[in-house]
Amino acid sequence: MVLAELGGRITRAIQQMSNVTIIDEKALNECLNEITRALLQSDVSFPLVKEMQSNIKKIVNLEDLAAGHNKRRIIEQAIFSELCKMLDPGKPAFAPKKAKASVVMFVGLQGAGKTTTCTKYAYYHQKKGYKPALVCADTFRAGAFDQLKQNATKAKIPFYGSYTESDPVKIAVEGVDTFKKENCDLIIVDTSGRHKQEATLFEEMRQVAEATKPDLVIFVMDSSIGQAAFDQAQAFKQSVAVGAVIITKMDGHAKGGGALSAVAATKSPVIFIGTGEHMDEFEVFDVKPFVSRLLGMGDWSGFVDKLQEVVPKDQQPELLEKLSQGNFTLRIMYDLFQNILNMGPLKEVFSMLPGISAEMMPKGHEKESQAKIKRYMTMMDSMTNDELDSSNPKVFNESRMMRIARGSGRQVREVMEMLEEYKRLLAKIWSKMKGLKIPKNGDMSA
Ligand code: GDP
Repeated sequence: MVLAELGGRITRAIQQMSNVTIIDEKALNECLNEITRALLQSDVSFPLVKEMQSNIKKIVNLEDLAAGHNKRRIIEQAIFSELCKMLDPGKPAFAPKKAKASVVMFVGLQGAGKTTTCTKYAYYHQKKGYKPALVCADTFRAGAFDQLKQNATKAKIPFYGSYTESDPVKIAVEGVDTFKKENCDLIIVDTSGRHKQEATLFEEMRQVAEATKPDLVIFVMDSSIGQAAFDQAQAFKQSVAVGAVIITKMDGHAKGGGALSAVAATKSPVIFIGTGEHMDEFEVFDVKPFVSRLLGMGDWSGFVDKLQEVVPKDQQPELLEKLSQGNFTLRIMYDLFQNILNMGPLKEVFSMLPGISAEMMPKGHEKESQAKIKRYMTMMDSMTNDELDSSNPKVFNESRMMRIARGSGRQVREVMEMLEEYKRLLAKIWSKMKGLKIPKNGDMSA
């Protein structure tokens, strides 16, 4: 089950429970059992799920629910905070400082995405003004050095490695020394992976860590690892001082619940997620927005912040109010598109809206998406006021669509496509906002 599905199931379970007239222990248990099943099927480990269930029971006071307080919100908040707790080990990961040499070592099983992630991590920091460098201490996998070299060259990041030396400790030490002398402030050491956890892998890792004294060890985990996540992460933690986790391949159909288990096992935070094979398909991981999106709440804090940057202050309350009423007309879509085009990086804004990014903006096609939005807006310019203010797509009969197409110099087929997009947004995304209380500061997690 992918994470979006998990979010949907949890939300539905809460919805079902809040529909019953009397919420007693039985109704609450049914709701929690459904959530437990959903979490287990998403590969969150069993002990974690059990713990979460009993914590929620402690937080949720049945008398409060019986007294008619907002049941849905109380339970949603309890689940929200428990999921956040699972993902937040309570201490931040080591953050490298500029102009002071930090050594960061990457560990993980072969195929987890370690080498790719090393370059992504280096590239991310390079853009932030660091001077990163890459050391290939993977002497086990033939081709590992070539792969790192290729990635590093593309990103213009200095690298170190050897085709002939078979001792990873020696290469790691030489690489770190070389780059310290060259005043690099972020020296990243890629280590060998194996197909499965085995003593030689751990011994080698221990030796590299001992010799290079890393400031941070990052455990890289493939999000599709499933229920094995907890044990695997724990095994690594027991051998080296893992201080952070990066989950890769979050773009695929992987379950992803293993992320929660990896945090629990390593007591270290997830700091980034990999969302594709390319260098920039790498996102900073923030717990609250992640869980908000998971539960279909949308990332209100980020979205409202963005709105506040571009929508004139006096128009903000009205817009939010309309959205929360599920009153999403074509005119609002037009205004929103206008704002979005002004907002800068489309990817950033869209990714805050649950469900929108994948459908409207496939990764790597930002320019096309921007052109598409502009095309839609031209067509909307040919609509009448009545059409723009209607939230009923059925008003668009054939003759109206032909008129809009003629007026905007586009094909009827394109008008239909735009209306389909509108219908999808109307149904899938904005209906989620219906009835949602918009908090004053936009922070749903408060
Ligand atoms: P290593 O053996 O752990 O060093 O793994 P690699 O870095 O060689 O990656 C294994 C495969 O996973 C490669 O084909 C990568 O392109 C791919 N990969 C790595 N990270 C991601 C990701 O976030 N998303 C996707 N879709 N593929 C990834």
